[in-house]
Amino acid sequence: MLSTMQDVPLTVARILEHGATVHGASTVATWDGERAVRRTFAEVGARAAQLAHALRDELGVTGDQRVATLMWNNTEHQEAYLAIPSMGAVLHTLNLRLPPQQLAFIINHAADHVIIANGSVLPLLAPLLPQLNPTLRHIVVSGPGDRGLLAGFSGSVHEYEELIADRPTSFPFPTDLDERSAAALCYTSGTTGDPKGVLYSHRSVYLHCLQVVSAESFGFTARDLLLPVVPMFHVNAWGIPHAAFMVGSSLLMPDRFLQPKPLAAMITAERPTFSAAVPTIWTGLLDELDSGGEAYDTSSLDTVVIGGSACPPALMKAFQDRYGIEVIHAWGMTETSPLGSVAHPPAGLTPEQEWPYRLTQGRFPATVQARVVGPDGSAMPHDGVAEGEIEVRGPWIARAYFGGAGQQPDAGGDKFSDDGWLRTGDVGTVSADGYLTLTDRAKDVIKSGGEWISSVALENELMAHPDVLEAAVVAVPDEKWGERPLATVVLRPGSDADVRTLREFLAGRVASWQLPERWAVIESVPKTSVGKFDKKVIRASYADGALSVTKLGKE
Ligand code: ADP
Repeated sequence: MLSTMQDVPLTVARILEHGATVHGASTVATWDGERAVRRTFAEVGARAAQLAHALRDELGVTGDQRVATLMWNNTEHQEAYLAIPSMGAVLHTLNLRLPPQQLAFIINHAADHVIIANGSVLPLLAPLLPQLNPTLRHIVVSGPGDRGLLAGFSGSVHEYEELIADRPTSFPFPTDLDERSAAALCYTSGTTGDPKGVLYSHRSVYLHCLQVVSAESFGFTARDLLLPVVPMFHVNAWGIPHAAFMVGSSLLMPDRFLQPKPLAAMITAERPTFSAAVPTIWTGLLDELDSGGEAYDTSSLDTVVIGGSACPPALMKAFQDRYGIEVIHAWGMTETSPLGSVAHPPAGLTPEQEWPYRLTQGRFPATVQARVVGPDGSAMPHDGVAEGEIEVRGPWIARAYFGGAGQQPDAGGDKFSDDGWLRTGDVGTVSADGYLTLTDRAKDVIKSGGEWISSVALENELMAHPDVLEAAVVAVPDEKWGERPLATVVLRPGSDADVRTLREFLAGRVASWQLPERWAVIESVPKTSVGKFDKKVIRASYADGALSVTKLGKE
């Protein structure tokens, strides 16, 4: 028997309408380098309606055409986030840090009809134009930048503000949209091959928002001011822009000012209560706060979420102990919208007892089911000990990749199991009470003489040394053991520590057979387009002999 409940579709248009009316006084502010420029949710809602009119009436966007954004985190991007899916089109967020070849590949693969770009990123877009398919008809430019760079474009170029001006401030957003239809498209950052498109539905975005705002995840309220440092092109800024409109949390957008100094200045001036980013951003910010003395005030920040790669415990503890900021560790991927697990401790523990839980990758919500799969494909117990590949399923987890315009979905090779679970490529354990502890990415684990060494565990220990700013450990080929760890470290400015001291430091903290023999002090750890350690680049420089490696200890 079917229920007697209403079947109201879960759509982004509903989130927009709710935020712009019920929470119409909340604000979206964009940092311009010196101060925040604010608009209310009501104004953003009106401008989103104007943008939808411009896209439909002037640029001819119909059906589920893709409208791409090549933008920093700012108010106009928020308007696009709301307008494009609400009208039934697909918001395609382009990662402006991708190599040009990949960016061109993605724009063509998605058959984007329009790109909305910030003026400051036109130098990135212009050289791609000769490679882009004629399906791209319009470029809309927002903010300062040299429009002359687009002179060779065969389609038309528009000014964002002129395009939306004088249009009606309400739009007949469809109310009968199938909630399973595509709302947004985000490609993986391609660290493991060609980027793959993940096509989120209205339903998946909506349900994911409900989880993001819940207290067991990020816990947003209408009293919060959220600072998403995580870019809006990195898995929908982890759901923050849409979730903010759902509950009325105001937003502080950092635009292109993502360096430690401007971030510290904007936190001091605007007093956000919440922020989120990958660990490398927080490492830089911590260093700036530590050296900036009295100039900065971070006392407004209750919570920061760190995710995207393993958070070094020393970093979490430093924020907690020195700045009173609660760091919440979270795990997810492009394919998981991205919220997978969030590390809140269970009840009834002292702060000291809470630490081991907070250092895990966190607990799964009811909507994300996980299983640990052994090398032979069998499901392993959730006992916190049995280690295997983590597979997940749930209503905001991908079941396939976008195949390209007019194409069948791409089954993703071995990324999805026969029974429809996502193979995450992450190796770890799950405890009986649902805490995920990742050992490593399957491809980063160091396989030394039949034993596995976690690169992340070695990095975490090294980054606990006061002279180490960053440490990245990778597997390198070894004649005797198959693979051995190579430790690359970035020392703090002015430090005179040498690799011998670091090895001795590590010797007290990890099993002796795990100690790296190969060491290199480097200027900075190469980063991927979303700010994670790019281990493939480190492996390549080692293979090319480009690293100056010191050998210590037994061969
Ligand atoms: P890419 O795969 O291109 O790096 P994603 O942002 O989708 O892009 O990356 C997802 C991966 O990031 C996960 O599979 C996992 O390996 C890693 N990751 C994310 N969060 C964490 C975390 N908290 N701890 C360890 N690894 C993490």
